[in-house]
Amino acid sequence: MRNLEPSAAPLAAALGLAELGIPILAAHHPTPVFGQGLAGCSCGQDCGMPARHPALGLTVADATTDPQRLTAWWRHGAGRWNLATVTGAAVDLVALADPRPAAEVAAWLRAHGVEPGPAPASAGSGSGWLVRPGHGELVLLPPSRLVGGQQLAWRTGPDADLPDPTRLYEVLAALPPPDELATWAAQQARGGAT
Ligand SMILES: [Zn+2]
Repeated sequence: MRNLEPSAAPLAAALGLAELGIPILAAHHPTPVFGQGLAGCSCGQDCGMPARHPALGLTVADATTDPQRLTAWWRHGAGRWNLATVTGAAVDLVALADPRPAAEVAAWLRAHGVEPGPAPASAGSGSGWLVRPGHGELVLLPPSRLVGGQQLAWRTGPDADLPDPTRLYEVLAALPPPDELATWAAQQARGGAT
């Protein structure tokens, strides 16, 4: 029953991945904007995370392998939702920040005795591999140094409380475009008057 071809309809792909034990979440999908192609988001808002945030009021905690829930979600969205997984519970993601070709990285892994797992291509970033949880995405923390010597610092914290991820997604989805955000931030710095 698995249908993991790239051309598979989203529901078929979701069911196939769920069968592999990868929890799936329905996410908003791109929509056409006049003159700009598929630049909009099915949430219908001026959205800062177009086609990359949960649909149907779902939260990251709703990711599931239950075929009945998945089927209901995609029937609800006329079959067009994007599909996402959520790292940390059943799967993690190991990502390479630099754009080394995935085929070359896969060959390197195999040459070193590691059969690579599923590797979703993500626009604008390098290779990423789904892995069993426990060895998740590597997030460098200060005071680590990057190649070239740049040292990482905290933008916030590190003693700040960790935010609720669902709320974070919601608010990031509503992030204004860069020029509007800059205007807004400048107004905030002047005391918030508009
Ligand atoms: Zn959106």
